[in-house]
Amino acid sequence: MIEIKNIGVFTSGGDAPGMNAAIRAVVRTALFNEKKITAIYQGYQGMIEGNFCEMQSRSVSSIIQKGGTILKSARCLEFKTKEGRQTAFENLQKEGIDALVAIGGDGTFTGANLFSLEYGIPVVCIPGTIDNDLNGSDYTLGYDTANNTVIEAIDKIKDTAASHSRLFFVEVMGRDSGCIALNAGVASGAEAILLPEKDTAISELIDMLETAADKNKSSTIVIVAEGDKNGGAYNVEKHVKQKFDYYDTKVSILGHLQRGGSPSSFDRVLATKMGYHAVQELLKGSTRVTIGIRGNKIVTTPLEEALNKSEFKLDEDLVKIAQVMNI
Ligand code: ADP
Repeated sequence: MIEIKNIGVFTSGGDAPGMNAAIRAVVRTALFNEKKITAIYQGYQGMIEGNFCEMQSRSVSSIIQKGGTILKSARCLEFKTKEGRQTAFENLQKEGIDALVAIGGDGTFTGANLFSLEYGIPVVCIPGTIDNDLNGSDYTLGYDTANNTVIEAIDKIKDTAASHSRLFFVEVMGRDSGCIALNAGVASGAEAILLPEKDTAISELIDMLETAADKNKSSTIVIVAEGDKNGGAYNVEKHVKQKFDYYDTKVSILGHLQRGGSPSSFDRVLATKMGYHAVQELLKGSTRVTIGIRGNKIVTTPLEEALNKSEFKLDEDLVKIAQVMNI
C-alpha cells in the first residue's frame, strides 16, 4: 500500500446543506493524521483548471452551520471526456495530491469511480444530495434539512389553505426520487402525495379529494414531486380543476429554497461522522467506496453498488402509512 501524503477534497454537482460540515471534518481529520489536505474548488472543473488551495484547521472555522459549499460546485462536461480527465490527473500529480474525497450525488460518484479506475488514484465518496437517492446509506447529507425546510413551508401554506378552504398543490424537489415528497408529506399531514416511483392516475387523486371533501376537511394539501408522471403541480392542478371547477385551487412550487439553509443538527453530525470516516477509510487503503449510515452505523459500500439504481427502494411502509393517515 502506498502511503497517502496529500488528500484532495471537493464538492461537485448539486449543493446540499451539510457539505460544509463534511469539508470541515475531512480537513481536520486529515490534519489530525498529519496529512496535507488540499481543497479543490469547483469540483471536477477545478481539477481541470488547477484551482487548488492547501487547507489549515482555521480554513474551515465557522462553516459547520452554513448551507451551500465553501469549495463551490460546478457541473463539468469536460470531465466526461478522456482528455478532460487526463488534464485533471496531470494537475493532481503536479500538486502532489495522491487521494481524493468527493462529496456529491450520483453524477459525482460516477465520475469519481471512472477516474479512480483509469488512473488508480484512491477515492472515497460522501453522499451529499437532498434527494436521498443513493444506495449504501439510509440518509444522504442535506436530506434531513431539506425535509425540515419543506415542512416549514407547508405549515405556512396550510394556514392560508385553511383560512380560505383552498386546495393547494405543492411541488417539491425530486426528479427521480420521491423521498422528500413522501417524508415531508407524512410530516406535514398532506392529504395526497404524488411520487415519481408510483403511477397515481388523476382519477385516483380525484377520488381521494372527493373523500377528503366529504369529510369536511378545512384545507387540502397535495404534495407533487417534480418527477411525478402527471407532469408537475401545474398540470395536476389543471386536470383537477377540469373536474372540480368550484374548487379554489393554488399551486406553490418550492424550488431552490429546498437546497439552501443552515444544516439541521442531524445533517451536521452525520456530515462530521462521514467526513471523519472518509479520511480514515482512505488511510486504511479503501478506494472506490462511499461512506454511508445504516441503522446508526457508519458503513462503506462499493461505488458500483451505490450507483445501482435498481436496488434503490422507496420506503413502502411509509407509503402505506401515509394512506392510512389520510382517512
Ligand atoms: P450530482 O453529483 O449532484 O449527481 P451531476 O450529475 O451534475 O451532479 O454530476 C456532477 C459532475 O460529475 C458532472 O458535472 C461531471 O463533471 C461529473 N460526471 C457525471 N457523470 C459523469 C460520467 N459519466 N463520467 C465522468 N464524469 C461524470
